[in-house]
Amino acid sequence: MLNADYTAISLCTVPKAFLLVYLQKAELIAEDKRLALRTVDQNFPFPSVIRLHRYVSVPFKNVVLNRQNIFRRDGHRCVYCGSYDDLTLDHVLPKSRGGRTSWDNLVTACRRCNARKGDYTPEEAYMKLPKKPVRPTFISFLRDLVDTVDASWEPFLNTAK
Ligand SMILES: [Zn+2]
Repeated sequence: MLNADYTAISLCTVPKAFLLVYLQKAELIAEDKRLALRTVDQNFPFPSVIRLHRYVSVPFKNVVLNRQNIFRRDGHRCVYCGSYDDLTLDHVLPKSRGGRTSWDNLVTACRRCNARKGDYTPEEAYMKLPKKPVRPTFISFLRDLVDTVDASWEPFLNTAK
């Protein structure tokens, strides 16, 4: 589902997408030609991308700060060495030194790197933090929510904020 300004705002079910188009709350941007919604005497396009006619201000859809979502944001690997094993959370600026438990101070790290870093910052421990951790948006997890991203979604995912 796209907002009136073509930014992707959420996933919705096909029946809901159909209803929004049917009620003229949204327009059909892309359909899946391989499929159709059939009634006894009519075929309707199978919605793949719809756009709302009216701009809705999306109350910033917060992704919950928890261990699993930090792992997801970091691709389930240690940000320091790339290992997929034995993952834990690392406070970039250590907690003992006032580091906060927040999106921009937590990263996925393997236990080995975590232990090696100890009470140091990455610079002090001579460990490289590849990029500054940020709060992910709902839409950045979209690819995780569905098995395959329909080709017709791609243009909108790339522009997703
Ligand atoms: Zn590591």
